[in-house]
Amino acid sequence: MKILAIQPKMTRRPMDTDLKAKMSPSLALLTIKSLTPSCHTVKIVNENIERIDFDEDVDLVAITVTVDALSRAARIAGRFREKGIPVVAGGIHITSAPYTAEGLFDALLIGRAESTWPDLLDDMAHRRIKSVYRDSCRDRVIQKPDYSIEKKSRYIYTNVVSTSRGCPHRCDFCYNSSADAVPYMNRPVEDVLRDIDAIGRKHILFIDDNFCGNPEWTGAFLDALIPLKIKWSAAVCADIAKHPHLLDKMVESGCQSLFIGFESINSSSLRGVHKSQNDVGTYDKLIHELHSRGIMINASLVFGLQYDYVLTFTRTRACIHTIKI
Ligand code: SF4
Repeated sequence: MKILAIQPKMTRRPMDTDLKAKMSPSLALLTIKSLTPSCHTVKIVNENIERIDFDEDVDLVAITVTVDALSRAARIAGRFREKGIPVVAGGIHITSAPYTAEGLFDALLIGRAESTWPDLLDDMAHRRIKSVYRDSCRDRVIQKPDYSIEKKSRYIYTNVVSTSRGCPHRCDFCYNSSADAVPYMNRPVEDVLRDIDAIGRKHILFIDDNFCGNPEWTGAFLDALIPLKIKWSAAVCADIAKHPHLLDKMVESGCQSLFIGFESINSSSLRGVHKSQNDVGTYDKLIHELHSRGIMINASLVFGLQYDYVLTFTRTRACIHTIKI
């Protein structure tokens, strides 16, 4: 079977530059490729950097969908479905809000491809595909992506590795709070080390939603990273200061910067979205702990939460200056 795996063109937000579209290849599609038995072929097309050939002779089209790309994904699906080619969709948006995609594709893959993709391929072989494939979450397997990336030079980052899926928290605004969100799971340490080796770069971007969702695992992983002498960046929660020993190991293992979801300096706003792991009163201590270790902070802040008001903007700006993010 010839499979065409598509990343649709993103919708640029006002603050996005052209570079945003060239950030990195889709790990979702590299994972699909890796999960597909070698009797099939998988061609990956990223519409942000190349054109889709709608006349291509394929047996199945699979599209990874983020919220901004849903309407483009639906148009792409329509073109192939007109020709009688089945089109399936999965990814973050399909998993978080499958009801928004009903009828737009022949099948929706909800949750991890590790669980849904093999079942779909099996059904394709028997010409009987279902409209929905749902991750049973019976196992906690995370597939190694196929890193044989074509057109590497067109991307800014090809050093992206995931160590986990999901998040132990359930902030209301995050896709990890959706009904079909996967439970938090880590990969075996050796699997991640093999990915780092396969990429062969001295700087790695760990793309996890929460690199420290399981501090015990993270500690063991950082121990294994130290001898590699690489540099790395990741995203963690604002409660990371509770684990100073991890911060020390982070520095020792080459941590350069951490993305942290501070989200708000307004405790009521945080409570309103159930972000209970954030404590505004400890932000300055956290920032001191990181800066004193030479770790740069990439802070995420959200405006427009329920308890925000007009002064929230100026107060947040003043706070950023005071605590020196
Ligand atoms: S901590 Fe971050 S990744 Fe986890 S649920 Fe909240 S926003 Fe999402």
